[in-house]
Amino acid sequence: MALRDIVKEGDKILTKTCRPVVKFDAKLAVLLDDMAETLKIADGVGLAAPQVGILRRVCIVDIGDDEGLIELVNPQIIDESGKQSGAEGCLSFPNQYGVVERPMFVTVKAQDRNGNEFTIKGEGLKARAFCHEIDHLNGVVFKERAERMLSPEEVEPA
Ligand code: ZN
Repeated sequence: MALRDIVKEGDKILTKTCRPVVKFDAKLAVLLDDMAETLKIADGVGLAAPQVGILRRVCIVDIGDDEGLIELVNPQIIDESGKQSGAEGCLSFPNQYGVVERPMFVTVKAQDRNGNEFTIKGEGLKARAFCHEIDHLNGVVFKERAERMLSPEEVEPA
């Protein structure tokens, strides 16, 4: 496994639509392994392939619960309900947080690294993370969805 550099705000790759994965090969496995290591070191809850410079529909989520790391290849939100509004950040936008409204519950259909289809449900933070990462695959970043950005004082109260 190897760490990958995380693309930062201003890089055009973050605005591009990713292409579906069609080959479930060793290269995909290496990408997923590298993304997992990169996410762990960066201490985030999710990472999408375009954030490491790869325009493919691949993302990972790990909110630190019992379910652990979730690998999503070609994910699609097939159902959503409820609403939540809260602070959201992104590894590509260090030290920036915005208030973003997301569904409270989502159901995602995706494939695993071997191409097997599955569905997975997310609630609360996990639903937020799924939405945030899948947005990345469509070239959408959280700042575009934020009602407002938090000031530094709100992020770290004095
Ligand atoms: Zn992000």
